[in-house]
Amino acid sequence: MTTTADVDPLVARMRPFGTTIFAEMSALAVRTGAVNLGQGFPDTDGPPEMLAAAAEALRTGQNQYPPGPGIPALRAAVAAHQRRFWGLEYDPDGEIVVTAGATEAVAAAILGLCEPGDEVVCFEPYYDSYAASIALAGAVRRPVTLRPAADGRYAFDPAALRAAFGPRTRLVLLNSPHNPTGKVFTPAELALIAELCREHGAYAVTDEVYEHLVFTDAASGHLPLATLPGMRERTLRISSAGKTFSCTGWKVGWVSGPAALVSAVLRVKQFLTFVNAAPLQPAVAVALALPDDYFADFRAGMQARRDQLVAGLAEAGFQVLAPEGTYFVTADVTALGGRDGVEFCRSLPERCGVVAVPTQVFYDDAEAGRRLVRFAFCKRPEVLTEAVTRLRGLPANAAG
Ligand SMILES: *Cc1c(COP(=O)(O)O)cnc(C)c1O
Repeated sequence: MTTTADVDPLVARMRPFGTTIFAEMSALAVRTGAVNLGQGFPDTDGPPEMLAAAAEALRTGQNQYPPGPGIPALRAAVAAHQRRFWGLEYDPDGEIVVTAGATEAVAAAILGLCEPGDEVVCFEPYYDSYAASIALAGAVRRPVTLRPAADGRYAFDPAALRAAFGPRTRLVLLNSPHNPTGKVFTPAELALIAELCREHGAYAVTDEVYEHLVFTDAASGHLPLATLPGMRERTLRISSAGKTFSCTGWKVGWVSGPAALVSAVLRVKQFLTFVNAAPLQPAVAVALALPDDYFADFRAGMQARRDQLVAGLAEAGFQVLAPEGTYFVTADVTALGGRDGVEFCRSLPERCGVVAVPTQVFYDDAEAGRRLVRFAFCKRPEVLTEAVTRLRGLPANAAG
């Protein structure tokens, strides 16, 4: 006789999703005292004006359920911010909804738009929540692989993208600047994505949480897909306070788009979390209205840390794929004798006291990412200096 304890109670569609690699690697970092460049969270606080506004809101009774779509001041600030930086106009009443981070916005968008069997075109390696959200909706992912090209950037085969679209394509899920590769999609690539969306009547869901982290030496700046011809009307544009304002634990995100699409997201979102983070919403409104200097300084600071880590990894013998944006740099471990990123990352803390994450876990085609690992550089310079010192001690041609 079977008892309930013998049976995995988890629904079949979630069974492929184990504990995230971040949990495993962060536990390893704690156990070994390693410098953790695995998970992408900053080790310094965001703008003081924002923190003060949050404390003030906590003290002045803004602690009950906010309105379902988010407080008016935050929706107005999101609209003003998008107009200021990207020239995009959204009506704060009906075209913007505040969510529990970008993660909830992505999940609610997919759950709200995809019938079972609908296809979602996305680029692998992908952010780890994407595959799970697509699976929860009973939808099917159609990955297009990003591969390191001769110029040291990641690129995809346009024919592969074209082939991924078909009669069941419901939407394309695009993350640019892209985690984990640091790729910034070029205007030509975005134009092709837009063309295919229009041709197939597909929606676009864009995860732009790194919109303010495109470095000044990137081939092109950040270009929201929604700014391309015919795209505003079919795009749900997602961002969040976590990365731009160094408050990843706050989980305040937002989604903007035409009213019909945003209302589909809200319909689902109201039964996922209903609302969140009441006293943090006015604080994020303050942050979004900070002068341009804040955003330029934030980017410059992160760019300097990228340069520091990229140089250190190269000295340590890694073949580095220098990122044009985000918090992350990826590197090939072959020159250090690595054959498999998972084995390499599992042994790295013991070998030199640093934690990284293997990117193959973010691919369906694990072979494409077999030898690639990701390091986060959103850390204080002295932490990066220590990590680099440790990595330089790594013997070449070691196992892993
Ligand atoms: C960090 C991150 C998120 C999550 O954002 P939250 O606002 O914390 O939910 C979503 N997408 C990408 C690509 C990220 O790197």
